[in-house]
Amino acid sequence: QCANLCPVGAIYETPDWRKVLKILDKKDKKILVAQTAPSVRVAIGEEFGMEPGSVSTGKMVAAIRRLGFDYVFDTNFAADLTIVEEGTELIGRINDGGPFPMFTSCCPAWINLLEKEYPEFINNVSSAKSPQQMMSSVVKTYFAKKIGVDPEDIIMVSIMPCTAKKDEITRPQQKIKLEDGREIKTTDYVITTRELAKLIKMKQINFIGLEDEDFDNPLGTSTGAAAIFGVTGGVMEAALRTAYEIITNKKLPKLEFNAVRGLDGIREAEIDIEGKKLKVAIAHGTANVKKLLDDIRDGARYYDFIEIMACPGGCIGGGGQPKSLDPDILKKRASAIYSIDELSTLRRSHENPDIQKLYEEFLEKPNSHIAHELLHTYYTDRSVKNKVVTE
Ligand code: SF4
Repeated sequence: QCANLCPVGAIYETPDWRKVLKILDKKDKKILVAQTAPSVRVAIGEEFGMEPGSVSTGKMVAAIRRLGFDYVFDTNFAADLTIVEEGTELIGRINDGGPFPMFTSCCPAWINLLEKEYPEFINNVSSAKSPQQMMSSVVKTYFAKKIGVDPEDIIMVSIMPCTAKKDEITRPQQKIKLEDGREIKTTDYVITTRELAKLIKMKQINFIGLEDEDFDNPLGTSTGAAAIFGVTGGVMEAALRTAYEIITNKKLPKLEFNAVRGLDGIREAEIDIEGKKLKVAIAHGTANVKKLLDDIRDGARYYDFIEIMACPGGCIGGGGQPKSLDPDILKKRASAIYSIDELSTLRRSHENPDIQKLYEEFLEKPNSHIAHELLHTYYTDRSVKNKVVTE
């Protein structure tokens, strides 16, 4: 039970790399698809002696292909999709008067904490699945149709900074129902950044010597807004970029929301959207998260929108990331994440042309019926008081 709550993987880390290795060595007719989370690319290089804060996206993609994956997609694409779905939900709540505060939902360790210790906030949490789960749902429906294969012939492997993501994929409410009635799991295996590095080393792939390669398409295009998901405050900033522009129908004069950046455990800001003041907060690290939630429960604080990440620094500090003794490791990885955003041509999730195409060809519109079926979930009260004791 503790392992489900443990964001830093101190208690156990299921060795899924062994299962993935078996699949890679088997070379049967299954189609092997990988996806990589925003924070993996700014940390994996450390396992191969690169300076902390190096961005090694192209080498990472090349190494995953050398391992034998048929397609390498970018979880950042799904982070853009999450922002469009979650941003639409936020705008809906602003128009309908709540319920507030609305909480982000992409951190599964936070969801476990919510269900076990703060169930009174269940209706406040966005119903949007995490980017990992949105990507796998889209791969096993939209992409499977595009390449003409049965979804059950695809093996979906996520590469995540996180040990809690291994638990997330076992939640029954994360399954999707296909048109023919079959219920399927979307992500089959999760391996961490460290486990990916282990596989690359075992296969004697010269990571440093690899030429950069691009993600596969159509699920490989992403924006700078998606890149910043990997750092505390990033989901909030990405959501604000989209919500502001959709509500006002105006371009933001400045895309950086500096008030929500930084590594302080709890940060708050007031964002003016055409006269409507949105009170936002960000918390990372379980102790800070609990402090914030307790204050809200006691009525000592009020906010409209809150980003919660269980790990210190957000996913850059996840339990599956390379171990480091560098006291500035989080700052270095965060600065690498922000540099990806600054160098991106597209920096707003709703401007991702492949996301727009996905809606045109398949999902119809944000928060549509089919989007809800595939991209949203629900939470249950798993607190001790609600547990039925059986002998
Ligand atoms: Fe996983 Fe990121 Fe949450 Fe840590 S902050 S538990 S790495 S999703």
